[in-house]
Amino acid sequence: RAKAEGRNTYRFFEARMGAEVRERRMIEHDLRHAIARDELRLVFQPQKDIQNGTIIGFEALLRWRHPLRGEISPDVFIPIAEESDAIIDIGAWVLRTACREAATWTKPLMVAVNVSAVQLYNTNFVSEVHQILLDTGLPARRLELEITETALVRDFNRALAALRLIKTLGVHIAMDDFGTGYSSLSNLRAFPFDKIKIDGSFVRAVNSNGQSATIVRAVLGLGRGLGLPVLAEGVETSAEMQFLRDEECKEVQGYFVARPADIASFRSLTHGDVRDDVVQDLSATRAQ
Ligand code: C2E
Ligand code: MG
Ligand code: MG
Ligand code: MG
Repeated sequence: RAKAEGRNTYRFFEARMGAEVRERRMIEHDLRHAIARDELRLVFQPQKDIQNGTIIGFEALLRWRHPLRGEISPDVFIPIAEESDAIIDIGAWVLRTACREAATWTKPLMVAVNVSAVQLYNTNFVSEVHQILLDTGLPARRLELEITETALVRDFNRALAALRLIKTLGVHIAMDDFGTGYSSLSNLRAFPFDKIKIDGSFVRAVNSNGQSATIVRAVLGLGRGLGLPVLAEGVETSAEMQFLRDEECKEVQGYFVARPADIASFRSLTHGDVRDDVVQDLSATRAQ
């Protein structure tokens, strides 16, 4: 009987593997047409300076509505796009769309764009960034590229060369998801980062998990020591916000401030005066 069960488990496993492989192939195939079929769009999430209460910019986040499957999470399709090199075209589309959008804002806010390792290692990347800035008219200082450490470990020298060139354009660079993956303190010193983004998984546990609180404090101390501003991602509650304020964290991003949304819903922030009471209103509408 144990043997039969084992065999059934194996068959079940095999069938599931088959389904996963088919799913992957479907995504890989359909992604190639996603731009042409107008299935991609960007949502934006505000980044707030908690020392002075102002909005400093927005992170652009990619969304894909598949005609049959509905919304597919970037956590699912970005890794597939990276393996199939579709990320090169998609990444260029994201960068161009985000810069074009930010160039229309009357407030000189930052726009942060996620860049994958595959894009960074592409020899055309830096000239592409430069060309997009020229085409859209967005000043380089208003663009920030968010790069994860995983992107840097594959080829240290090449990554360093690319990031240095990007810096000479005047574009900012943030280390995304700090604390996860291949975190190495020497990366912070070696690469020309302008900002550290602490991963939301640490931030969301600060009030329930002593270790997370210790880690967040340590990263904030590291940022202070290195002269790098630290942004805490994934802030969902007022208790987390209070902790970060007490620890003198400079910037936050998360559902507590606002969920990522169509940029039109942030018009009062991107155009005209940036007032803190507008942000308060937004956080009052957040989902519980
Ligand atoms: P990320 O760059 O670390 O982006 C932050 C993620 O956390 C976003 O998920 C955002 O919607 C989510 N988030 C923000 N605030 C909160 C919060 O308070 N609580 C919780 N639970 N989550 C929050 P999203 O949009 O699903 O994106 C997931 C990841 O996909 C991103 O992580 C980024 O690594 C990748 N990604 C998204 N757009 C792009 C893109 O245009 N290019 C590349 N290369 N990667 C992208
Ligand atoms: Mg990011
Ligand atoms: Mg992140
Ligand atoms: Mg992430």
